[in-house]
Amino acid sequence: MILWTRLAPDPLAGGDARDRDRGRVEVATDEAFTDVVASGEALAEPAFAHSVHVDATGLAADSWYFYRFHAGDFTSPVGRTRTLPAPDSAPERLRLASASCQRFTTGYYTAYAHVAAEELDLVLFLGDYIYENGDSGPVRSHMSEECRTLLDYRNRYALYRGDAQLQAAHHRFPWAVIWDDHEVDNNYVADISAVDDPDSWPAGQPRTRPSTSTCRSASRRRRRRGWRSTAFSWGDLAEVFLLDTRQYRTDQLCMDEPGEDCGELETEDGDMLGPEQEAWLTDGLSASPAIWKLIAQQIVFSKVDFSGLLINWDQWDGYPKARQRMLDFIAGEQLANVVILAGDLHVGGMADLNAVAGDTNTPVVAVEIVTTSITSSSETDVPPETIEQLVGTIPQIKYFNAHSRGYVTVELSRTELRARFELSTPSRQRPPGSRPRPS
Ligand code: FE
Ligand code: CA
Repeated sequence: MILWTRLAPDPLAGGDARDRDRGRVEVATDEAFTDVVASGEALAEPAFAHSVHVDATGLAADSWYFYRFHAGDFTSPVGRTRTLPAPDSAPERLRLASASCQRFTTGYYTAYAHVAAEELDLVLFLGDYIYENGDSGPVRSHMSEECRTLLDYRNRYALYRGDAQLQAAHHRFPWAVIWDDHEVDNNYVADISAVDDPDSWPAGQPRTRPSTSTCRSASRRRRRRGWRSTAFSWGDLAEVFLLDTRQYRTDQLCMDEPGEDCGELETEDGDMLGPEQEAWLTDGLSASPAIWKLIAQQIVFSKVDFSGLLINWDQWDGYPKARQRMLDFIAGEQLANVVILAGDLHVGGMADLNAVAGDTNTPVVAVEIVTTSITSSSETDVPPETIEQLVGTIPQIKYFNAHSRGYVTVELSRTELRARFELSTPSRQRPPGSRPRPS
């Protein structure tokens, strides 16, 4: 695990840590730090904005630990984290929360107060940890223009990470984090910006914004060295594959915004993962001895194209050949218990995945669990109840909620997976006279 902090006396204005570049880190088995099992100097390199990354090694498997940092007279709050069960162990349980899309301006992080009160092993964050925009929302403001420079992005991360409820969830559990588009630019693909933002990052031009990996301090040694995806196993109970669906895909067809097919879909030959990452994933799935195979990725995998009338080009619906190739692989290898976890859409749902995408006459080969947003609101003017009616006609979608914010807890035993939608419905999004849908 990586223990992380940052020295930043003035976090919203570059940090201002000056010449402070050293601290100490302690790891203990108890919250009072009477049993310190590891400690050492931690380097806060100015080149990485005085952030600290300590790769904590030599700890026991399947164990909880507490950690804290000291720098000068300052001691950090205590964080709690845990190690993975040993690869050859047979754990009874894994409980995680999956979360996505925490736009700062559209809501408070109340959901994280609830996450922090859960008994979880880890938090899986599926993208849109920050939003790059320069907007104000109904409850908070980004307090700066749209992010363009590395300094802008660092200040934006500091704004988000300063939130006490988000911090509480980080203090309580380890997180596995992947990014989606808004960590860089809405709907970006590799070096191609969103079409609606031509001034800041002209399409086809070399990028001037920091690359995803330099924005994300956790990946400083991994700057665009091939695909960055990773996997971890929870003994023989589960293997979790974390994908990058942004940097290696081909550009979206037609337009970035959802709409009708502009005539490009029939001949599309798009790629979502890129050949290297796709081979890594299929090899990993075939070789995995785990009971449950979780594919944690950013965007909705299910076919939800409303007979071609409303296609979200940024989702797997815009890359149907790449999606079918994945389904063919899962069916061909007869893989059991494949579960895709997604976010991005700011709505929650669960669906069967059929061997032929969207064809319920073919066998179910996997399932998808889509978490709603922590705070981000719907990006369409269509009322949520209308979306729910439309999606309600799609037979393979077993549960759908377009009203609510929150997260999903996923509890795995050796025989069962339980997904529980932990939701709250903002009152202005609730239709008159309706009651919140049960979770
Ligand atoms: Fe989002
Ligand atoms: Ca997104």
